[in-house]
Amino acid sequence: MGSSARSLQAILGAPGVRGKRVSVLSKDGLTDFMQSIVFSKQETKEPFYVLDLSTVTALMDRWTRALPMVRPYYAVKCNPDPALLGIMASLGSSFDCASKAEIESVLALGVSADRIVFANPCKAESHIKYAASVGVNLTTFDSRDEIEKIRKWHPKCALLIRIKAPDDGGARCPLGPKYGALPEEVAPLFQAAQAARLTVTGVSFHIGSGATHSRAYQRAIAAAKTTFETATRLGLPRMRVLNIGGGFTADTQFNEAASAIKAALQSYFGNDSGLTIIAEPGRFFAESAFTLATNIIGKRIRGELREYWINDGIYGSMNCILYDHATITCTPLACTSNRANTTCKGVRTYSSTVFGPTCDALDTVLTGHQLPELQVNDWLVFPNMGAYTAAAGSNFNGFHTSAILTYLAFSNTS
Ligand SMILES: *Cc1c(COP(=O)(O)O)cnc(C)c1O
Repeated sequence: MGSSARSLQAILGAPGVRGKRVSVLSKDGLTDFMQSIVFSKQETKEPFYVLDLSTVTALMDRWTRALPMVRPYYAVKCNPDPALLGIMASLGSSFDCASKAEIESVLALGVSADRIVFANPCKAESHIKYAASVGVNLTTFDSRDEIEKIRKWHPKCALLIRIKAPDDGGARCPLGPKYGALPEEVAPLFQAAQAARLTVTGVSFHIGSGATHSRAYQRAIAAAKTTFETATRLGLPRMRVLNIGGGFTADTQFNEAASAIKAALQSYFGNDSGLTIIAEPGRFFAESAFTLATNIIGKRIRGELREYWINDGIYGSMNCILYDHATITCTPLACTSNRANTTCKGVRTYSSTVFGPTCDALDTVLTGHQLPELQVNDWLVFPNMGAYTAAAGSNFNGFHTSAILTYLAFSNTS
């Protein structure tokens, strides 16, 4: 059995996937697959996602090759799709959960509580109590009040001090303004944890989501080293965990980030063999695995301009434009209304606007986008729509993001 067939077996048996239909596609078969779904949806024409599970397995291979010493804890908030969580679990990933509901969804897959880090530095007391009741015994903190809550409700929980990454300016979504102890706050927090008889077992940081320069990892790992030294100086028991957070993208930048991380780990923690290194990648695994198809529900021509309305938008999957500062793109699904031309090559294009379905003018998905002349009932396909999309969509105006179906596929590349 080839590795692709082997991983297909594992995937079909993964929690969240088992019992569901997985369509095995030939190489480059995604367009045909989407067209077959469109054909079967003649009546309703609702938007839908395709999750290509083979993308996720390939990304896990890539992660393991580049950063074999760093254990991934997939960040559930990025995309909590049950099939994605299940396949990550079956590929050996652990999980970063930020709330009671996220912990529940991971435990429901049969994942044990010791594969979860409750990586929200500021948690509601009821969520801390829940973590204690199910045995999630690792969490982050960056304030004295958090220490007090954990002492009260979950004193057995081991702590990671979340420090502010020194350099998150290059990230698409910096997290420094909200989270992370400042250098001068570290020692007092360690002392407060000691006084509360809590165990601080390591250091955690996040250089910001969608990081653009790998220097940020290097500087944050240096800051983590300083934090380890502070703990030693204060006589804390030896810390064992370094959590390098998220920020990864699955483009060429990943190779640079991995090199920078390996070099920094070597220079700052080189001879520490007892150190467990973990990360919390979200976007890296989710972004390119999901493709979204939307239906054109309206059209207006104004001179040379073409305006289209589709049935998903800013209040739905495309909220990523606002909240994740994403740039998205789309192509017509093989010129659906013009079946003679399946590639759209050599077809005249028009500067086009694509609007979402709600009655808010803010609900504008693309402007000045070149598209061929399309008709109502044609489909537009948006690639790379897995990260911070459906996860943060709303039900505004009666358009239910949570109702969008996800079809499972596995591209057979062998
Ligand atoms: C959002 C978040 C992540 C995931 O970040 P990505 O940039 O998507 O990898 C990881 N850890 C924490 C604490 C987060 O808040």
